Amino acid sequence: MSERLIELELDGARVAFTTRRGGVSGGPYESLNLGLLTGDEPANVAENRTRAAADAGLDPAQVAMGWQVHGAEIREWDAAPRRGGYASPGAELPRVDGHATGAPGVALLVLVADCLPVALAGGGRVAMLHCGWRPLAAGLIERALATFAEPPAAAIGPGIGRCCYEVGPEVLARFADLEGVADGRRLDLRAVARRKLEALGVTRIVDVDRCTACERDSFFSHRRDGGTTGRQAGLVWMPA
Ligand SMILES: [Zn+2]
Repeated sequence: MSERLIELELDGARVAFTTRRGGVSGGPYESLNLGLLTGDEPANVAENRTRAAADAGLDPAQVAMGWQVHGAEIREWDAAPRRGGYASPGAELPRVDGHATGAPGVALLVLVADCLPVALAGGGRVAMLHCGWRPLAAGLIERALATFAEPPAAAIGPGIGRCCYEVGPEVLARFADLEGVADGRRLDLRAVARRKLEALGVTRIVDVDRCTACERDSFFSHRRDGGTTGRQAGLVWMPA
């Protein structure tokens, strides 16, 4: 068992959520920062990415990722990316917050630091979604589910909990149609994701139930750290 990963099996697919442990970065990026668009040293991020992939049993070249824009677009991958941005920092990245594939051996990755990484798997397909409030409100989960013939299983990774996530009324208003997702001004993103999954027939939902803001030793948190922090990842793939 790696200190770098929280690993799950999901309907024949594998899911890994990374922690901040077991990397080489220092300061606010201590230590397993996987995000390049931070103030961290690119060489440290590259080493961290190599370590995280190795623990998951992946070649970095298998990993597909995007430039996240807090939207609801999904990129379908037919094969592993050629010179993809995980293995080759600086590569052109698709501007999407969701990834899907039916190809075994293609690992889909999102970077997070409070937003929820949500994995879907079923019927020979997998998807990985970057679920902050904006992509959730924009329908990213609904769009991803529409690409599956049958409702898949889902895994919800570490993200900011209701305990630590006070939002403004304009954000709460976007989820007013969902039951039990807010406590005063505190929004429960995990409950939002769960309600949206359940509404479209998903019955198997694994929730690791870890708050990134509460668990300083285990996770990066954008809100807790005032924006200067690292990134952890959510990964899903079907073994080749
Ligand atoms: Zn918390």
